[in-house]
Amino acid sequence: IQRTLVLVKPDGVSRGLSGEVLRRIEAKGYTLVAVELRTADDALLQQHYAEHEGKPFFQPLVDFMKSGPVLAVVAEGHRVIEGFRSLAGTTDPTVAAPGTIRGDLGRDWGLKVTQNLVHGSDSEDSAAREIALWFPSLAR
Ligand code: ATP
Repeated sequence: IQRTLVLVKPDGVSRGLSGEVLRRIEAKGYTLVAVELRTADDALLQQHYAEHEGKPFFQPLVDFMKSGPVLAVVAEGHRVIEGFRSLAGTTDPTVAAPGTIRGDLGRDWGLKVTQNLVHGSDSEDSAAREIALWFPSLAR
């Protein structure tokens, strides 16, 4: 059975939307395997976002992600990787479809699309890598 790493980003936590994100994951029928509020450091975030290193938004993204606590979640279920990305909506909250987390709850505050409430792993390889990074005890 598939697992994915979800992060409620600092904007989601500070706006009090952690519970809403968990509610949507559970309402969809996925199981919560791990839920932990943490403040990430540079080392963790640089590994987490390694594929974006060198891009202009990389450092602002890392700085934003360590600006406050994030809620790290491992969710489980059949096709949960694709399923959570569908729940989240597209990267840019302005155009993310209504009904999605980003579409319903996110907007562009003039800070481009760095602050888009949630992260979800985008493939089985990313999910395995990200879960091992955030929850070493769940690596498999
Ligand atoms: P995530 O992986 O967080 O679910 P995603 O797959 O929709 O998001 P990616 O292209 O993997 O988006 O980018 C990772 C994150 O980097 C985005 O969620 C967003 O926070 C930030 N980001 C992406 N593109 C930009 C950009 N052009 N300007 C600012 N931030 C960006």
